[in-house]
Amino acid sequence: MITQLLSTNTIAKQYDFFKTGKTKSTAFRITQLKTLRQAIIEHEPNIFEALKADLGKPVLEAYSSEVLIVTKEIDYTIKHLNVWNKPKQAGTSWQMFPSSAKIYPEPLGVVLIIGAWNYPVQLNILPLVGAIAAGNCAIIKPSEMAPNTSRVIAELIEKHFAPEYITVVEGGVETSQQLLKEKFNHIFFTGGKAIGKIVMEAAAKHLTPVTLELGGKSPCIVDTDNDLETSARRIIWGKFFNAGQSCVAPDYLLVNKRIKENLLNTLENCLKEFYGDRPASSPDYARIINQKHYERLVKLLDGDIRIGGETNPDEFYIPPTIIDNVSWEDPVMEEEIFGPILPVIEYTDISEAIALINSREKPLALYLFSKNKNLQKRVLQETSSGGVCINDTMKHFFVSSLPFGGVSESGIGSYHGKASFDTFSHYKSVLHRSFLFDLKLLYAPYEGKLPWLRRLLG
Ligand code: NAD
Repeated sequence: MITQLLSTNTIAKQYDFFKTGKTKSTAFRITQLKTLRQAIIEHEPNIFEALKADLGKPVLEAYSSEVLIVTKEIDYTIKHLNVWNKPKQAGTSWQMFPSSAKIYPEPLGVVLIIGAWNYPVQLNILPLVGAIAAGNCAIIKPSEMAPNTSRVIAELIEKHFAPEYITVVEGGVETSQQLLKEKFNHIFFTGGKAIGKIVMEAAAKHLTPVTLELGGKSPCIVDTDNDLETSARRIIWGKFFNAGQSCVAPDYLLVNKRIKENLLNTLENCLKEFYGDRPASSPDYARIINQKHYERLVKLLDGDIRIGGETNPDEFYIPPTIIDNVSWEDPVMEEEIFGPILPVIEYTDISEAIALINSREKPLALYLFSKNKNLQKRVLQETSSGGVCINDTMKHFFVSSLPFGGVSESGIGSYHGKASFDTFSHYKSVLHRSFLFDLKLLYAPYEGKLPWLRRLLG
């Protein structure tokens, strides 16, 4: 596919198309966003089918986290685009009198979007919404690990967009590697830390800016002052949605010792309520993406397993699992789990929980369940993470007005809503001077001018 792409010179054609200036008008961008919205709706049944085949994704999960999130983001973007795309007045100093200053957003050019497999529609299409809104051409490389969804995305884009404007390139690692040799004006990557480093290294050769949407171990603190039933439902939802294969899934629980037993009982009841006694036969529970990830996760099923059970290699099925009395040295605490296993660690004082979090890499998300305002304030002030959601899990991801991204090891840059527009725009600063008043003190010959310059401008 890549050879075909390069032989027909699509990247060069995208640069040529960009130079025509067609993508610059707000009206053009809004039309394209509407087309994209329509295309997603039209292909909804194929999207559901593909997600079922790739991940066993239940239709409700597919709708809410792959279709609805994208259509809502498009609506939000269309609503605000006129304002975002207008030049913004900036102040100038009296020393520049008379002058005016403005900041003009302008598109970057041709951008590359490399997606991950766990939400294979939204992780490609949400960045695309930002790229279109900001007036760019785009090449999308979906993950080869969700091949059915990759195909649907390719068909959908091919049907509705000219390749010199938006194109999908399907393929595996070699395809990514070949694409990364090319010069783009921005690379937007979603995936793991190891590949993120490869992407950044390749981008550095062309001085291409990158957005890296990575992962990490996102802690979930549960303290005493709390509505346990609601907390349990929200934790189980966030952890076992898409069988735990979410970058913002709570990775592990940090629970106050005083409520641990109560919480664990409530979590167990909640799991049964959600998926019944045999989650394997529940239509509402997804599967692991492939054998490699299945085997990686099975190795972590060790220790004081509180709830869990039989796995099934034929279906890549791993049941919702809770492991109690986990220590930081256990294998399950080494890397991001990215699957349906929830380790539980207890603490006696919130300072201990904060210190534990701060001894690890900065996570993508942090969750805190507590009504205590002082405790909320302490956790917010004393920890660093890509984002925080208090008294729920993952929901901050769905709010278009909140920039989404990691910090330090969990990512570089952010997107969603205005943040996507900013990511794919260059903000050009323009100072407009008048011909009135020309301060000759600035011009050579300089002799004798310095004291006057100090007095006037210093
Ligand atoms: P991955 O890093 O293995 O792959 C992502 C993409 O990189 C794929 O398209 C793949 O083809 C490409 N790729 C793989 N090897 C490559 C190489 N050697 N050179 C160039 N490209 C290569 O990630 P994944 O397994 O698809 O996703 C899992 C990770 O992604 C987790 O860490 C998860 O937390 C993270 N993630 C983050 C977000 C977010 O929004 N921050 C969302 C979803 C997933």
